[in-house]
Amino acid sequence: MNLESKIYVAGHRGLVGSAIVRNLQEKGYHNLVFRTSKELDLTNSNQVDSFFQEQRPDYVFLAAAKVGGIAANNDYPAEFIRDNLMIQTNVIDAAHRNRVKKLLFLGSTCIYPRLAEQPMREDSLLTGELEPTNEPYAIAKIAGIKMCQSYNRQYGTNFISIMPTNLFGPNDNFDLTSSHVLPALIRKFHEAKVSQAETVEVWGTGTPKREFLYSDDLADAAIYLMNTYNGNDLVNIGVGKDISIKELAEKVGKTVGYEGEIVFNTSKPDGTPRKLVDVSRLKSLGWEAKIPLDDGLKMAYDWFLEQTEKVR
Ligand code: GDP
Repeated sequence: MNLESKIYVAGHRGLVGSAIVRNLQEKGYHNLVFRTSKELDLTNSNQVDSFFQEQRPDYVFLAAAKVGGIAANNDYPAEFIRDNLMIQTNVIDAAHRNRVKKLLFLGSTCIYPRLAEQPMREDSLLTGELEPTNEPYAIAKIAGIKMCQSYNRQYGTNFISIMPTNLFGPNDNFDLTSSHVLPALIRKFHEAKVSQAETVEVWGTGTPKREFLYSDDLADAAIYLMNTYNGNDLVNIGVGKDISIKELAEKVGKTVGYEGEIVFNTSKPDGTPRKLVDVSRLKSLGWEAKIPLDDGLKMAYDWFLEQTEKVR
């Protein structure tokens, strides 16, 4: 990309898309295009076609997706597979037909088998059974990766796929029924502190381990790879280190300044026992995460506080 390139960021209001836009703007890219879902329904192929024909972007970051935590994936499996298949199929196909120079597809590490060897390497894809709680979402993302690879093979496109680990940051979803664990815990601990509650409920046993990457780090990696990586193989994006949900809860408690007790509700699902990605390919391509978890947590909590103030 050069600073004049026309860049379409699909999903620019989300956690990932908004971080990519911030990062592109900071780096001086100024010819950016985005549309809200009201202006452009990405599940509608006619609308997507017209948009690409009219705008003719050079580069596309495909960060639009239906996403959610363990409960939302469990409750709305049909929407997770349908919306994601539709959005990515429409955008990838339109990008090909309108000669986009390069597209970056965002997957997820839930594409890897539930019991994949840890840390999970890119070549563990399709070597075993998926985690049932998010299988429909994972299948859609796997289809997206295969679609990019197949288009590259048959049509000579340059569509790359990256697999970020669990992300957090500004514009995250803090709704307790649909969010991922980290934003949920920020909110729960904050509310417990404000109401001086004696306990905070954390789902599951607290033993599953997860890896967390701040969204600005992910955006930096995405732009870096858009500019430097032209391979057909997927690339994991992570920090290379995970922590247990219990440890995460303690960290969030500390960040928020809550001093009560943590209670584990074991009637809620644990999901995959561990989900650490192998980042050696990313490292060999010349990129490493820079924002430590404690700093990211502070920034995410500050953002959450600002939003809470605004709503008041
Ligand atoms: P996953 O990474 O796809 O399993 O999705 P989540 O981020 O939703 O959940 C990760 C882990 O955190 C699971 O073991 C959850 O049971 C656990 N967890 C603990 N408390 C919460 C909570 O309040 N919300 C969510 N979403 N998960 C929680």
